[in-house]
Amino acid sequence: MAKITKLDDIVSLCKRRGFIFQSSEIYGGLASCYDYGPLGVELKNNVKKAWWKTVVQMRDDVVGLDCSILMHPMVWKASGHADKFADLIVECKKCNTRTRVDHLKDHCEEHTAHIAIDSALASAPELSNKVCPNCGSVGNFTEPMPFQLMFETQMGANVDDAMTMYLRPETAQGIFANFRNVLDTTRVKIPFGIAQIGKSFRNEVTTKAFIFRTREFEQAELEFFCEPGTDEEWFEHWKKCRFEWYIGLGLKKENLRFRQHDADELAHYAKSCADVEYKFPFGSGDWQELEGIANRTDYDLRQHQRGIRTMTKWYENNRDMTKIELTDEPQDYQSGPLSYFDIEKKKRYVPYVIEPSAGIDRSALAFLVDAYDEEEVRGEKRNLLRFHHALAPIKVGVFPLVKRDGMPEIARNIYEDMKKHFNCFYDEKGAIGRRYRRQDEAGTPFCITVDGQTLEDKTVTVRKRDSMEQVRVTTDSLKSFLYDKLEV
Ligand code: ATP
Repeated sequence: MAKITKLDDIVSLCKRRGFIFQSSEIYGGLASCYDYGPLGVELKNNVKKAWWKTVVQMRDDVVGLDCSILMHPMVWKASGHADKFADLIVECKKCNTRTRVDHLKDHCEEHTAHIAIDSALASAPELSNKVCPNCGSVGNFTEPMPFQLMFETQMGANVDDAMTMYLRPETAQGIFANFRNVLDTTRVKIPFGIAQIGKSFRNEVTTKAFIFRTREFEQAELEFFCEPGTDEEWFEHWKKCRFEWYIGLGLKKENLRFRQHDADELAHYAKSCADVEYKFPFGSGDWQELEGIANRTDYDLRQHQRGIRTMTKWYENNRDMTKIELTDEPQDYQSGPLSYFDIEKKKRYVPYVIEPSAGIDRSALAFLVDAYDEEEVRGEKRNLLRFHHALAPIKVGVFPLVKRDGMPEIARNIYEDMKKHFNCFYDEKGAIGRRYRRQDEAGTPFCITVDGQTLEDKTVTVRKRDSMEQVRVTTDSLKSFLYDKLEV
């Protein structure tokens, strides 16, 4: 199947050109963990920059934040993750492979979010027709059981002060925990958002598909706080903004769509949820989630208000989380510590939250897949990445045509000058055609070549990646020519 070949092509290009490596490869590799190489880290940084620019820099109503990965255990108790963040799994009785129930074949609900344990067990899923993805046996599974997705770790060196902690499974909770801090230290007024990019960790039951689903990954999340009653409007607003972001960065429209969640697949905190899906060249169905946009209502802030009230029990029970139940919510929760006072309306309330939550690694994979192209040029195969300029790891390649007649010196000078403005790459080795091909494969949009004519009239060749068209530009106007084209 051509499509599967395409993911293989991406994986091999990523390895060959230093975009992405398997983690700990020299020791045989660590499953589901990946390292970004010299080109990959530039790509990933550019994805993050593009997100931050659209979601924070260009808006007057969003501020940024960078929280620690380790947080107080009460955060996860209050958010519901300590008790409910689990995937429902079954084990194949024949080969002992564990699979997420919602990933079993013939199940069209590929994207069901992590299920609240109680409700999932209450409605036992029908498994008699399901196929084990490993050995192919049908309906031969154990009873579904919950599998905790958070990674545990220990904090503290001494036995009596050591605490069990979790690596965060989402960045969002750090934002809720800082809601008060941001309100008290900035001039934000509702509606406003707090944005964060950072690592998250989930002990996923099954990984696979390269960087699509890994156990350590990066998220870009926005919590947008608004007045209850305006939430549905903001939900639509953010759906539109986020969809346009992917299109604006070059993803082909026909490969993107929305999928609205049905009521029975909503996460425990959500009133409604829509996924931006991309047509990836793998998986049981092609369409896979890139980003989830959820209406989280006032759930999280109210839960953290309960968490704050529970802190006395935390001390009384000597921090033993197994003995602690969240304190009930008081009648007047609307004026609790995480409420907002609207001065103009003279009204206090707990805000609603709209959350667009994107995966940076997943987006990077979508941008790679979408940009990948092969074509035949004069009887030879040309591999290229047609990246949007903002995402291209290297913006400009600089070459002397040959290594004599002073061409390397002029090319070096141009390189030294250009690299102050753009990420550039200098190369003087091998045939010029091969140097162009290497940059095509890295997705570099422009290559500058110093040739014989440069010595006469101070012009250079600028070659465009996509069309391979070459134009002559004076060395004096190179910078403005590239600024204009690259829009950086
Ligand atoms: P799934 O159902 O695929 O496990 P989810 O619905 O639980 O995903 P969210 O909790 O909504 O995912 O996370 C928001 C975004 O974070 C996802 O859209 C995805 O881009 C990214 N993400 C989540 N889990 C992973 C993972 N294991 N590896 C890479 N990216 C992830």
